[in-house]
Amino acid sequence: MTTEIDRRLVGWLEDAYAMEQEAETMLKAMASRIKHYPAFQQRIEQHVSETQQQMQNLEQCLQELDASKPTAKAAIGSAMATVHAMGNAMMDDEVAKGVGIAYAFEQMEVASYRALIIAARRAERPRIAAICEQILGEEQAMVDWLFEQQPALIDQFLNREWADLEAKR
Ligand code: MG
Ligand code: FE
Repeated sequence: MTTEIDRRLVGWLEDAYAMEQEAETMLKAMASRIKHYPAFQQRIEQHVSETQQQMQNLEQCLQELDASKPTAKAAIGSAMATVHAMGNAMMDDEVAKGVGIAYAFEQMEVASYRALIIAARRAERPRIAAICEQILGEEQAMVDWLFEQQPALIDQFLNREWADLEAKR
């Protein structure tokens, strides 16, 4: 039996899937370029792997609700992310802006999973709620890491710029 709350849950899971696909595209593009910032690069690569796992877990959630894997929304998100990533690449301070962009994106993910957990509980879907709680933990960890590392990254960027080294990435 499909209820109103199940339909809402499916919609939000599809949105989350599209969001993760966008995250994967953006993070991959960033990680491939910020070669002078290895700690940042490594943490982003780790989160790319987490993001890929999250997408699989979201697919599982959608299966539990007898919904198929979302394609259209995700494709649009991915295309937008590519354009986005290209825009970022043209900035002369990509790494400095990138840390802020990533922070904002991860915060949006946190808010999305918090909403999903409430909907999953109301729909009496404990497995889906548990999956979203686990993903929320990974998003919050990424938010915390970016927040803590931003000052050091900005310093590193400005040091490189001051020393006339290639700084933007
Ligand atoms: Mg994510
Ligand atoms: Fe994330």
